Amino acid sequence: MHKITLIFGDGIGPEITEAVKAVIAAAGVDILWDVQEVGQKALKAYGNPLPDAAIESIKANKIALKGPVTTQIGNGFKSINVTLRQTFDLYANIRPVKSLPGVKTPFTGIDMVIFRENTEDLYAGIENVINEDRVEAIKLITRKASHRIAEKAFEYARQNNRKKVTAIHKANIMKKADGLFLEEVRKTADKYSDIAYDELIVDNACMKLVQQPQKFDVIVTENLYGDIISDLCAGLVGGLGVVPGMNVGEDCMIFEAVHGSAPDIAGKNIANPLALLMSAVEMLKAIGETEAADSIQSAIYKLLEEGKCLTPDLGGSATTSEVAQELCRLVAN
Ligand code: NAD
Repeated sequence: MHKITLIFGDGIGPEITEAVKAVIAAAGVDILWDVQEVGQKALKAYGNPLPDAAIESIKANKIALKGPVTTQIGNGFKSINVTLRQTFDLYANIRPVKSLPGVKTPFTGIDMVIFRENTEDLYAGIENVINEDRVEAIKLITRKASHRIAEKAFEYARQNNRKKVTAIHKANIMKKADGLFLEEVRKTADKYSDIAYDELIVDNACMKLVQQPQKFDVIVTENLYGDIISDLCAGLVGGLGVVPGMNVGEDCMIFEAVHGSAPDIAGKNIANPLALLMSAVEMLKAIGETEAADSIQSAIYKLLEEGKCLTPDLGGSATTSEVAQELCRLVAN
């Protein structure tokens, strides 16, 4: 039996996490879910948005499946999502973006994987109020973090028969910070002579991503660019409802979708559970449950190909629970 930390999150989190749990159970995987609360609910209940119990649970289990957690804009506690990634040094945020059967979009044949550095950059949280009219935010880039995300991206490319890694940066302007990032990626590229390498300035990269996304294979980039580019790329393949993600460090992994808590549709039972389910498929692979992972993956593809039971973001009218039920049926067959 696997013991895995489960964070339902808030907004659409509880609805989609419940759906994902049901599908994993239908696939017959024996998991003891160690449920932990974080965010606003935890703040109310325990006076701390990230209670020690949640930290200890992830530390012990080394694997977590996490629904999205809301972060207030402009005030409130520091993002729990960022804090978790920093606490467990989950330096690689890996986001596969793939065209899916049955999901109609302007492009076909997209198949790329984004490697986003996950622990520093402007997300380091170093903000100083100089005076009431002046605030500075520090962009922190280190050789160590740049090196390990580059290594992770190139090693992934090699292991997964990928042909090219593209570094996305703004070193023409941030010559020192992005310059250091690029220096480390270039050094790594030199070591991986079997993988093609190129570089794009982030603004140009955005244009090329919406013109010829099929040309991208593996992307390696800093935290902020990676965050923005991930949502852009999600839009290319059907939206945030269908793009999974994982946060990977040396000791543990947290699996979560790219999307947030979607307050605009929370509580309506219409959120798409597929992005979190696809993240769970990656989790099942990571814990050696490949048969169950394959069976859920096939069920997802079948559901999309049939196109009869889809949530509104994919043009359907099914509820989150109906999608979950249908997936359970497909997995069991
Ligand atoms: P969002 O990703 O929550 O939503 C953006 C848009 O996509 C919305 O229109 C939403 O309805 C739609 N969407 C997202 N997921 C969907 C799904 N599964 N099915 C159908 N539609 C979906 O982004 P936002 O509105 O900018 O952020 C809301 C909150 O989430 C913020 O507090 C933000 O900080 C937080 N957030 C959390 C995470 C995380 O937990 N890892 C990630 C991103 C944002």
